[in-house]
Amino acid sequence: MKYVLVSGGVISGIGKGVIASSSGLLLKTLGCKVTSIKIDPYMNVDAGTMAPTEHGEVFVLNDGGEVDLDLGNYERYLNVTLTRDNNITTGKMYKHVIEKERRGDYLGRTVQIVPHLTDAIQDWVERVARTPADDSNEEPDVCVIELGGTLGDIESAPFVEAMRQLRRRAGKDNFLQIHVSLVPVIHGELKTKPTQQAIRDARSAGLSPDLIACRCERSLDKATTDKIAMFCQVEPEQVVSVHDVVSTYHVPILLEQQGFLTQLSQGLKIDKQSIAPSLVTKGERIWRQWKTLTTSQEHVYETVSIALVGKYVSLHDSYLSVIKSLEHAAMACRRKLNIVWVDATNLEQETRESNPEAFHKAWHDVCTAEGILVPGGFGARGTEGMIAAAHWARTKGKPYLGICLGMQVAVIEYARNVCGISGAHSIELDQQTSDPVIIFMPEIDPVNMGGTMRLGSRPTIFQPNTEWSKLRSLYGLDRTTIDERHRHRYEVNPEYIDRLQAAGLHFIGKDDKGERMEIIELKDHPWYVGVQFHPEYLSRVLAPSKPFLGFVASAAGVFEPVVKASQAREAELANGVSEIII
Ligand code: GLN
Repeated sequence: MKYVLVSGGVISGIGKGVIASSSGLLLKTLGCKVTSIKIDPYMNVDAGTMAPTEHGEVFVLNDGGEVDLDLGNYERYLNVTLTRDNNITTGKMYKHVIEKERRGDYLGRTVQIVPHLTDAIQDWVERVARTPADDSNEEPDVCVIELGGTLGDIESAPFVEAMRQLRRRAGKDNFLQIHVSLVPVIHGELKTKPTQQAIRDARSAGLSPDLIACRCERSLDKATTDKIAMFCQVEPEQVVSVHDVVSTYHVPILLEQQGFLTQLSQGLKIDKQSIAPSLVTKGERIWRQWKTLTTSQEHVYETVSIALVGKYVSLHDSYLSVIKSLEHAAMACRRKLNIVWVDATNLEQETRESNPEAFHKAWHDVCTAEGILVPGGFGARGTEGMIAAAHWARTKGKPYLGICLGMQVAVIEYARNVCGISGAHSIELDQQTSDPVIIFMPEIDPVNMGGTMRLGSRPTIFQPNTEWSKLRSLYGLDRTTIDERHRHRYEVNPEYIDRLQAAGLHFIGKDDKGERMEIIELKDHPWYVGVQFHPEYLSRVLAPSKPFLGFVASAAGVFEPVVKASQAREAELANGVSEIII
């Protein structure tokens, strides 16, 4: 097993995750089987209890793990399926060690950070790294480990020490460290001091970065690269410039152009001869596809504008996978994506009084967008605004996609304004409601919050007599079951289904018992779809998620041709003529 550790110096939030996933992708293009682990040095056991405005969206895995959004990047870049164990947190490791201590596994010894916690971290990493993650179902060759935060934080100290020891455990040529640093531009000049200091910090912790990835606004000139190399005691080839590029998809290309892959394969002594020829060919294909994709994107000028109506819009990372899925769909429709961020509370009547400017601006944005998307969310704030946006989309024939909460608000809107159930509401949003069209799911734990929602991959069955469905035309009518990831506590109240259905709201997809409503769709509307699951977690660059694809294609006015292309691609996938490789 070979390891690539990606750590950060100076400040966090400068794209360590993208550099780490790009490194993994580059190794994949050689034919290596790559997996990844993200270490988050916080006390939460997992990301599930954190507000998206803290660290960005909570990403959900097939196994129901609620994890850091970087795991989403890894799944997308490396086309792998990860497990909850691929995300390590301080809380998770302490819990693990304390449980062992309670069982008596330490045989009376004093349990300490070093060696017990640090050993436990290494054992965990070694175990998870060996778990098959891609369609080969074989043990990976390389594991990319991303250490969250910045070196020198109190929080990350045990992990830093564990990584220092892991280098020894892995042995020579099996461990390589990329340190991501910042090279700020001050008065037009590239400043190298923070990077020098960051490398010094890393060395004093016993680490020795092999490659220095410098994040900067503009590309590093030779003098700056030489200066960093000289002061940090590395060769200039070991210093790479990761300057701003048009999109994150360009980062692997930017790295490759600077000989980064050669550095990686030399540093890890990857022997190309020992890689199976079929994997080498596959790797070369991935790389060709990736390059075509990014360059073809540069020549797209027509736009499609989507209003994203949510409550966490202050931090765009709260909706990272939604943004990625929209991007994937827009690429397939040959459109440049223009997301218009709308804070749902600004669409509410109260804002009309308190802040008329914001109110009118928000409505202008909703009315002029070509499609309206209401993503997932929790709590009451902004939900009346979301209901109003769903109403507008429904009555004006604007493409609408509601995800999880976005589907629930569409159901409330329909109940109120079409079925005439004026008090219709969700129990989550109004506990006193006379007409709870959305209710708490019976099996959910009402007290404990961590990991107790309906989570992970579950099947949705398309219902009889729904062949007219636009969404189904994308999946292909022969598909009767789809698997998508879930994360919710509330659901459509079965007692209202008949009334809603009789009034024209079709529940075209239900769970395998037929009890849980999974998909709504309107018949006489260009695209009005709500899904209880989160399709954004499974979207891929070359296999955009269908609910997103249909939505964006309708918004762009290219639904028919896109359906045809998508059906052709599905057929290729089914016949094994093609496969999803990125
Ligand atoms: N709050 C809603 C529920 O728990 C929706 C959740 C979501 O959008 N992820 O059912």
